[in-house]
Formats: sequence, structure tokens, C-alpha cells
Amino acid sequence: MSGLFSLASKRALVTGANTGIGQAIAVALAGQGAAVTCVGRRACDETVERIEAAGGTADSLLLDFADPMAAKEVFKGAGYTLLVNNAGIIRRADSVDYSEEDWDAVVDVNMKALFFTCQAFGRELIAKGQEGAVVNIASLLSFQGGIRVPAYTASKHGVAGITKILANEWARHGITVNAIAPGYIATNNTEALREDAERSKAILERIPAGRWGDPEDIGGTAAYLCSRAARYVTGAVLNVDGGWLAR
Ligand code: NAP
Repeated sequence: MSGLFSLASKRALVTGANTGIGQAIAVALAGQGAAVTCVGRRACDETVERIEAAGGTADSLLLDFADPMAAKEVFKGAGYTLLVNNAGIIRRADSVDYSEEDWDAVVDVNMKALFFTCQAFGRELIAKGQEGAVVNIASLLSFQGGIRVPAYTASKHGVAGITKILANEWARHGITVNAIAPGYIATNNTEALREDAERSKAILERIPAGRWGDPEDIGGTAAYLCSRAARYVTGAVLNVDGGWLAR
């Protein structure tokens, strides 16, 4: 009997899987037995190597979500039943100076591409009558305002909303749609914050767990949300933040 958390014989697609949180999610899903397609605008060789070295199954696919429709044809007849939308970017400037170019770039990758990737995945599963799971990577800025990141905050509030509407529409098809809101995780995305001694100190002082999160902290949560153990969980935006939002 396969366990409640097993992903054996499932096929998963994880976006932004060459580094950081996406890499840890791909490794975690493969660790539960899923065959994982690691999507990046650069090849995900390191992630595939890590998975294969651990005895798992993975391949790499190049897609650039600067084109929000990039994944339109990817799911057709391919057998994916798990999708993790993790690819995301952040651009910082005071709101009074924020450029239209930065706004469009961030919203296109973080929100528009995420929606249309979900749409392509959902269309395929619904047409085939297959059950499945979507996990979207949101943010604490799906709940809070943040500073100097207006497009990021808008896009991540959007991710929470998209997660809820798709959960409503697709529950009757057996497709769960959830989001993870990571706290402060040590990746490329937060390098600038960690290098700013003042901001870094203020952030650490507010995290009850007393440390930055590791990408692996998010990987385990994504594997759970993809598993049978979470089959009655849908429309949730689950914060994995060392207690930040509880403070
Ligand atoms: P990261 O190390 O910068 O990873 C971002 C990933 O997205 C990379 O694989 C990146 O590829 C990919 N990506 C960016 N633009 C893309 C595009 N146009 N097409 C395809 N892939 C693209 O940052 P991370 O911290 O792991 O972030 C992963 C997700 O978690 C993001 O959605 C982020 O908003 C979210 N998040 C992170 C934190 C945190 O504290 N780190 C907190 C909350 C939410 P390249 O390597 O080629 O750029």
C-alpha cells in the first residue's frame, strides 16, 4: 500500500526549479516518488542531477514566463497531474518612482503567467477527467503591504485570489488548488535584504523561530499539498514563515 504522503507514479511540473525554493520543491516531490519536470528559463541541470543522484526521476524543460502563455501547450497528452507554480521575480523601487516596465515584468511572470499556466493544466485535467493538485507560491506580501515592492505585492495578492477562484471552480473536478506563503527564505530573491545589515537584523528580530527559512522548509509543505494527505485541503494560502504572521 502506498503511504498517505506518497507521490509514486505521479508526474509533476515545477516552475523556476533551477535554484532556491523551486529546486527544493522539485527535490522534495521527487523524494516522494514523483517524476518531476524542472522548468526554467535556464536549464535545470543541477536540480536534475541532485534528483537522479538520490535515485529519483527528473527532466528539464526550458520555458520563459516573460511570455505569460509559455506553458500553453506543455500539458497536452503529457500526463502531468501535479503543478507547482514557483517562478517569480521581484523589483524594488519607491512607489513614487516605480516604472511601468518593472510593473509589467513582475506582474507578467508572477501573476499572469501563473494564471495561464494553471489554465492550461486545468483544461487538460478536466478534459481527461483526471484529478490533480496545483500549488502556487504566494508570499507574506499576499497578506501584508511590504516596502518598495508595489508590483510584487500586487502580484502576490493576485496569486492568493487566483488560488481561491480556481479552488472554487475546480474542486468538483477533484483538482485541489492551494498556495504556500513562504516567510523570509534564504535564496537569491532575498540576497539584497540579507546584505542590508539593518533590514536583516529587524527581520530576524521579528521571526519567532529566530532564523531565516531554508528552501527545504517549503519543499516539504509543497509535497504534502500534492499528496493524498491533503485531498480535502483546497483554496488555502498556507504561511510557512517561522511564526512571522502570528506575531
Ligand atoms: P530565486 O532563487 O530568485 O528563484 C526564482 C525562480 O524563478 C528561478 O528559478 C528563476 O529563474 C525563475 N524565474 C524568474 N523569472 C522567470 C521567467 N521569466 N521564466 C522562467 N523562470 C523564471 O527566488 P526564490 O526565493 O527561490 O523564489 C521562488 C518563489 O518564491 C518566487 O515566486 C518568490 O516570489 C517566492 N517567495 C520567495 C520568498 C523568499 O523569502 N525567498 C518569500 C516569499 C515568496 P532564473 O534563475 O533563471 O532567474
